[in-house]
Amino acid sequence: MNNPMILVIERNELHHKLIHEALSENYSLVYIKDSSELAHKAMDKPRLILLNLYQAQYKHDHSLDWIQSECNGRVPVLFILEKHSPLLIQKAFELGAQDVLVFPTTHEYIKRRVDGQFQLNGLKSMLNVQQRTGQDNWSIMDRYLPFLFINLKGEINFFSDALSQALSVNKNSILGVSFIQFAQRHSANVDFEEFFDKSWYEQFMEIPKEEQHWVIRDQNAEGDQNWYRLTLVPRYDGFNIWVGFSLFYQNINDTIKLKSLAEKDALTKIANRLTLNQTLQSEIDRANRIRDTFSVIMFDIDNFKEVNDCYGHLVGDQVLTELTKIISLNSRKIDVFGRWGGEEFMVICPHTNERGAVVLAEKYKQVISKQKFSTVDQLSCSFGVSEYPLDTDANMVIDHADRALYRAKDGGRNRVEYFSRYEYL
Ligand code: GH3
Ligand code: MG
Ligand code: MG
Repeated sequence: MNNPMILVIERNELHHKLIHEALSENYSLVYIKDSSELAHKAMDKPRLILLNLYQAQYKHDHSLDWIQSECNGRVPVLFILEKHSPLLIQKAFELGAQDVLVFPTTHEYIKRRVDGQFQLNGLKSMLNVQQRTGQDNWSIMDRYLPFLFINLKGEINFFSDALSQALSVNKNSILGVSFIQFAQRHSANVDFEEFFDKSWYEQFMEIPKEEQHWVIRDQNAEGDQNWYRLTLVPRYDGFNIWVGFSLFYQNINDTIKLKSLAEKDALTKIANRLTLNQTLQSEIDRANRIRDTFSVIMFDIDNFKEVNDCYGHLVGDQVLTELTKIISLNSRKIDVFGRWGGEEFMVICPHTNERGAVVLAEKYKQVISKQKFSTVDQLSCSFGVSEYPLDTDANMVIDHADRALYRAKDGGRNRVEYFSRYEYL
């Protein structure tokens, strides 16, 4: 490897000798007497310049001008002084010296000062590269990663370009706004206020160590809805002091869509048969484990074939949708309502015995009889109710509800029947 080049602008032969002895082992030295020689010496750009201050001030010497124009402050200049004088030292620094060497001095001293300059320069360029890489990384994150920062006052103090694009907001209008206030645009079962109040404000110094995750739905000004998975992580500065949080937004529209396709009925958007089966199984497991009970209501639209025959399939579909809407509206939160198939539906009622389920089915019957359906006007359903017999399987409770439903049909429709457990006796 080539040794780094040092340009020595110096007339004094004794100084040459000293410099040579101190530096020639590790550096390649080029000596010139003054600026008149600069043009003649074929040389690469020096990495460091040693310049005699007295000479530099000679009228005909233009070394300093040359250094200024050629090196433009990028090449460190060490001035050689021939005596120790505060005034001269000050002058040297005014002229742009990085350091001064007061001659005569020892080899060791020259070597150390010059080595030190090279080390400093190495560090400076490393820092430059790192800063540039950091800035590159940062601008990539800003552009492609949707995230924001929240400071310890709960205010948003950074909002990435990617996030402002995703949520279509002007980020300048968001900076400084409290996150809780901003999060009001997200509809979700997330109480941000409670999270931030309890874990953050009240116990201010207690940093949540684990990542927090939430699923939210965001609605922008144009009414577009998007689902996001939020990840909240504590943020620290370069000195490892906690300064707030980073909150990342991951769009999960596709996941939600797939989940909905797998779990919901395409026409009515209520639970499909697969979900009903899964719910039945988990209810059975729960009931057997804690010796609780649950019931099933099965119902079927009366004479639905006529609706299709008279008005066509589209009206039939519309009726199915309307019916599921009013049943959903009149269901309890804990009940799971789904489409069992065709015009047949099921409601799974946790913690509910036969009697309770019959009451609920009667309520549904009432609600349907009062409803004015579009096109067909009136509609009725028949209901079959059964309570799960502990330690049996899903087929049993379904079969019982089915039998009760057929009895309701046989009995003239628009009615509720239940399967009594004593029917076997
Ligand atoms: P019952 O009172 O005995 O239940 O008489 P019904 O006419 O309702 O019974 P049936 O089983 O004879 O007919 C059910 C009809 O439901 C036949 C089928 O075309 C219709 N159906 C099932 N699924 C759909 C659907 O998704 N859309 C439409 N429009 N009709 C459907
Ligand atoms: Mg029917
Ligand atoms: Mg049917």
